[in-house]
Amino acid sequence: MEVTNDNGCSWIKDLIPRTNIKTLQSNDDCEWLLIGAGYTGLSAARKLAQLHPNQKIILVDAQLAGEGASSRNSGYLVDTTLNDGFTSNKELDNYKKKTDIYDLGIQVVKKFINEYQVDCDWNECGKYFASSRREDKKILSNFSNTLSKLSFEHKLLSKVELSKRLGTDFYNIALHTKGGILLHPGKLVRAMIDVLPNNVVLYENSFLLNWNKNKDSISCKFKNGTINTKRIIFATNGFLKSLGIKSNYNFPITLTASMTRPLTNNEYKLIGKPNEWGVLSVRPMGATIRMTKDRRILIRNTAEIHNPYKLNKSELDKRSIIQRIGIKKRFPQLPYDIIQSSWSGIVSRTRNSSQIFEKIDQNVFVAGCYNGSGIGVGTLFGEQIAIKASNENTKEIETIEARNKPTWLPPQPFLNLGIKTRLIYERLRAKSEI
Ligand SMILES: Cc1cc2nc3c(=O)[nH]c(=O)nc-3n(C[C@H](O)[C@H](O)[C@H](O)COP(=O)(O)OP(=O)(O)OC[C@H]3O[C@@H](n4cnc5c(N)ncnc54)[C@H](O)[C@@H]3O)c2cc1C
Repeated sequence: MEVTNDNGCSWIKDLIPRTNIKTLQSNDDCEWLLIGAGYTGLSAARKLAQLHPNQKIILVDAQLAGEGASSRNSGYLVDTTLNDGFTSNKELDNYKKKTDIYDLGIQVVKKFINEYQVDCDWNECGKYFASSRREDKKILSNFSNTLSKLSFEHKLLSKVELSKRLGTDFYNIALHTKGGILLHPGKLVRAMIDVLPNNVVLYENSFLLNWNKNKDSISCKFKNGTINTKRIIFATNGFLKSLGIKSNYNFPITLTASMTRPLTNNEYKLIGKPNEWGVLSVRPMGATIRMTKDRRILIRNTAEIHNPYKLNKSELDKRSIIQRIGIKKRFPQLPYDIIQSSWSGIVSRTRNSSQIFEKIDQNVFVAGCYNGSGIGVGTLFGEQIAIKASNENTKEIETIEARNKPTWLPPQPFLNLGIKTRLIYERLRAKSEI
C-alpha cells in the first residue's frame, strides 16, 4: 500500500512550499525512531528532543511532513463532541474522561503556540452543534444537560439568532459551546515542522515498508535503506492498521472536504457579513461547515471506507459535487460554482471511539485514533507517548490512561460489512443535514 495524497488541499496551498526536503537514501541508525510526521509524530519528536538532547532521533514520513490528515482537517480544536462517529455519549463519567483529555489537548496546543509565537488564525469563538430538523431539539436538550452538569458554558439558539450569526436560514436549532477554538490546521502543523530541534533528523517521502523487532533493536525497512533503532513510536494514525499495529482495534475512514474561494464583498454582504464561525452537525454523518476568517466556506460531508485510501480525480469530483450542493442548500444566494479545491484525508477510528495510547512491546509504542479530535488530542498524545516511552510519568498520562480502552473489532470481511452498513444507516439518518 502506498501513502499518497491529492494535491487539492486549500490549507496546504495557503502555505509557502518547503525546501530542504531530505529522503532516506541509505542505511541509518538512531536511539529513537518515529513513524508519521503529523501532530502526533511531530509533538513526540519535539518532546523526545527536549528529554534526550544528546540522543539521535529520526522522524520519518511517507509523504511530506504534516501533509496527511494534520493539514487536511477542518480546524476545530474541540472542547466537547456530540457525535463521536457512531454513538453519542450517554454516560456522564465517560464523557467527563473524554472532555478531560480534550481540555489537556487545548492546553498543550495553546502552550505550543504561545511558546513559539505561532500564527495559526487562532479564534476562541466556540462552535455550534446545529440541525435543520426541529425534532433534534431533544438531542440538543439532552446534550445541554450533560454540558451543564460538567460546567461547560453553552447556549441553545433558535433559527432567528442563528441566521444572524451564520448568514444562513438553513438551521433551525443549535447549541453553541464557548470553549472550542477554530484555527488554520496547515499553519499549525507547519509551525511544528519549523521548530523541530536540531537533534531530530526528518526524512520525508520515505515509506516504511516493514519492521522487525530483534532482541535489542528494531529494524525498519524503507525503499532506499534500513533504519535500526533502539526504540520506536508509531504515529501513523489512519495507517496503523496497514502496518499491522493494533489491527484488531482500529480502522481507517476516508473523509473529503471542499473549500470555496473567498467571498466577494458583495457576496459577503448578501449573507449578512457574519463573523468567522464553525458548525458541527447534530447527526454523525451530517456536514461540518465553517466560515473562515478570510470569508471562505469549508464543507466536509462525506465519510467512507475506501480502498486504496486515495481517491482518484473522478471520485473526488463526485464528492465535490455533493459538497457544492451542501453549500448551495445553505447559501442559495451564492453562485453555484465557488468551490476552489477539494481533497481527501484519512482518519482513524476505534469501535468505541476511544484512542490508542500504549506500549505494545518492549521499546515499541503507539499513539493514535482520534477521529475528529486529533488537533488537540494528537498533539497531547504525541508529547505524552514520548514521556511514557522515556519511562517517566505525568498527571496527563494518568488522565489519558483513565479513559475507556478501545474495544476489539471483528475480523474481515465482517468488519468492513459492519462499518459500511453503519455508515449507510447514519447517512440516511443525516440525509437532510448533508
Ligand atoms: C477532512 C478531515 C477533517 C477533520 N477535522 C478535524 C477537526 O476539525 N478537528 C480535529 O481535531 N481533527 C480533525 N480531523 C482529524 C485530524 O486531522 C487527525 O486526527 C490528526 O491529523 C491525526 O494526527 P496524526 O499525526 O496522528 O496523524 P496524521 O496527520 O494522519 O499523520 C500520520 C502520518 O503518518 C504517515 N504514514 C503513514 N504510513 C506511513 C508509513 N508506512 N511510513 C511512513 N509514514 C507513514 C502519513 O503520511 C501521515 O503523514 C479531521 C481529519 C480529516 C481528514
